[in-house]
Parts: sequence; C-alpha cells; structure tokens
Amino acid sequence: MPIDADVIVIGGGTSGAAAALSLARAGRRVIVLDRFKPPHEHGEHHGGQRLFRTAYFEHPGYVPLLRRALDGWRRLEAESGERLLELTGAVYVGAPGGELISGSLRSAAAHGVPHEVLSPHEATEALPGAVLHESCVVMRERTAGYVRCDAAIAALLRVAEATGAKIRSGVPASGWSASSNSVEVATAGGILRAGLLIIAAGPWSGALLSDIGVRLTVTRQVQAYVEASPGGGPACCWAVEGLDGLFVYGFPRDHHAGTIKFGVHVHGPVLDPDRPTPSVTAREIEQARSALRGVFPSLANGRIHGSACRYTNSPDTHFIIDRHPAFPNVVFGAGFSGHGFKFAPVLGELLAKLVMDPGAEHPAPFLALSRFGGGG
Ligand SMILES: Cc1cc2nc3c(=O)[nH]c(=O)nc-3n(C[C@H](O)[C@H](O)[C@H](O)COP(=O)(O)OP(=O)(O)OC[C@H]3O[C@@H](n4cnc5c(N)ncnc54)[C@H](O)[C@@H]3O)c2cc1C
Repeated sequence: MPIDADVIVIGGGTSGAAAALSLARAGRRVIVLDRFKPPHEHGEHHGGQRLFRTAYFEHPGYVPLLRRALDGWRRLEAESGERLLELTGAVYVGAPGGELISGSLRSAAAHGVPHEVLSPHEATEALPGAVLHESCVVMRERTAGYVRCDAAIAALLRVAEATGAKIRSGVPASGWSASSNSVEVATAGGILRAGLLIIAAGPWSGALLSDIGVRLTVTRQVQAYVEASPGGGPACCWAVEGLDGLFVYGFPRDHHAGTIKFGVHVHGPVLDPDRPTPSVTAREIEQARSALRGVFPSLANGRIHGSACRYTNSPDTHFIIDRHPAFPNVVFGAGFSGHGFKFAPVLGELLAKLVMDPGAEHPAPFLALSRFGGGG
C-alpha cells in the first residue's frame, strides 16, 4: 500500500501544530488533520493570552522544558516575523505554605530561576489596587509573561506549512489503526496511511485514546475580560492563591481591547466535547466578578464579558506524553490540564522525538504514561 506521509498528526492545535513544525524541520513528510480551522474557539487554545511562567509551582521537572520552550518561542518569532511572547514579568501571591508560593519557590531554588520575594511596600507597587492579605508571601519572577495564543497557533501552522507540512483543516479523523510499521487514519474522504502517527486532539483525545488505561476528563472553563481604563490594574501578569484556596490569575491591560483578561484556575463542570459549548452565562460572569473583587476590588466594577474554553485533565493534572502502550509508532500528547500552552514548542519537540526515534528513552519521564501503573 502506498503511504501518504511519513507522519500523520491528528489535531492542528497547540501540541499538534508544534509537533508538525518539529517534524517538518527534521525533514519528515507530515500531514496534519484538524476537524476545524485552527486557531478556533472549539478547543483549548483561544482567548488572546496564555500565561508563561518558569518558576513552575506545579513540578520542578517542568523548568528545563520551559527554558527550551522560551527558546522555541523566540525562534518561532524570528521565523514568523511576529511578536508572540511578552515577558512582562509576573507576581505570585499566596500563603507561605500554599501550593503557588511554596511550589514556585521550590522550582526556583531547584533550577536557579531568578526571582525576588517582595516587601509589602514593593508588593503594593507591583500590583496597584490589589488587596493583599498581611500573612501572604509575594514573589516576582521576571522570566514570565504571556503568549499571544491565537497568533501563536497561526504562526506555528504557517511556519510548519512553509517548512513542508501539509495542513488539512475541516478534516476530522474518525478513527485510527496501527500495525508495527504502519498506521491508517479514517476520514470522511477515505483512509490516509503513514508509518507514524501523533495524536494531539485536545478535548477529543479521550475518544481516540480509549485504550491507554487512563481517563481524560474535559471541563468547561470561563475566561473573563474586564474593561479597564488606561493605566488601570497591574502592568505585569499575576496569580493569587487566596487563603480560601481560590486561584485567580490574570494579565496586564490589553491596550488594543481596553480590557484585562483574568480567570479562576479551578476545574469546572465536566462536559462532552462533542456537544457545542454554550455561551457564558450571567451567573458565570458574576462568579468571575466576585473572584476578581477578592483581588482587585476597584477593577471588579467594570463591565465584564467572557468566553468559554475547555481543559482536558489527566488524573494527576500533569501532562501525558508518551508512545501508545501497544504501538510504539503511535505517540500522543494529552491531558494538559489547563497549563499546556506555554510549552507548545517543547511539546512539539518531545512528540516528534518520541515518534521519530522509537528506541529513545523518554526525554521527560515524569510525564510518561507508566506513572499511572497501568490505570488512572
Ligand atoms: C481558559 C483557559 C485558560 C488557559 N490558560 C493557560 C495559561 O495561562 N497558560 C498555559 O500554558 N496554558 C493555559 N491553558 C491550557 C492550554 O491552552 C491547553 O493546555 C493547550 O491549548 C492544549 O493543547 P492541545 O493541543 O491539547 O489542544 P488544542 O489546542 O485544543 O488542539 C487540539 C486540536 O485537535 C483538533 N481535533 C480534535 N479531534 C480531532 C479529530 N478527531 N480529527 C482532527 N482534528 C481533531 C481540534 O480541532 C483542535 O484544533 C488554558 C486553557 C483554557 C481553556
């Protein structure tokens, strides 16, 4: 049977577009299939901005990956001629023993990430208008900021295409099968064949990976935007873990839109990815307003609008990047659990390495499927 490509990538969003670019740079013939036309509003990657942080509270193992991701974003900026990453710095606020502060300090210490612990006066200057509890610790990280997410997806795909990848939008993969040296992907237009397959399907990954022994849960998330006047609000990114555990984060004012984007990092209601996402409700807007009021009371009176997005969560909220347990020529990246975007260039590198080099050891073992011990 003739093959259509060396590698088929299912999903042309965050991780799939980056994988396609890495593979195309390595000279592989790649076909990317996407059920929509990325960037789009049906997956996990839309909404204007995504935080970039290096002193990673979630796990110190991510720090080396983030350093590579930073280089990757800069390379993509050079190749695409677009500014994608803004290092505005970020300020983190939380209880001394809370996950945000203790985890960020742990990662910073383990990997020598430059940071400062701010005095109460410095903290007030860094986050004007914020109400900070007197017992909280405030930490500033300079190698942090945000990625322009929609523009970044478009740039990844454009540069991948210019490097030789074939991007097929509006083509859902309805299923796949594999043998030891080939894969077949079913689409409405027929079967595509290749030697290798990457599954990077975001919220739809669970359906394509039903046999890996780990359950992926898709949740509804609201990203909110509050109108703010010029000079209003913080000039950097921010994350605040309240004493009640509520984790609110946000960005500096977007001068073009006249708004400050913010969100609450909590896993929302579980949803079926095949059902259309209902618009954001008045109740959800008021919940967002109340979370903002706890941090920036004066901003919370402004007009707020929101857009719905999705997290695909792994059981332990860490990424799962690995070869398929039955087919080493099938590799997947899934369960980015609401924090994967900033890593996109390095996700692409990891997926490409795992699929191109079947004998290679896992480059980031803490993200391997085996941590679930055969079930999650
Ligand atoms: C509200 C919100 C805020 C976030 N904030 C941050 C943040 O500040 N920092 C950060 O790093 N991360 C953040 N994230 C998380 C980050 O955006 C995601 O982890 C990341 O985008 C996931 O990438 P993905 O490739 O898995 O999914 P996606 O980017 O959604 O890509 C999956 C693609 O696969 C396609 N697809 C699916 N099924 C098929 C099929 N069968 N056939 C063909 N194509 C298919 C889809 O159309 C889609 O384009 C946030 C997410 C949300 C929702």
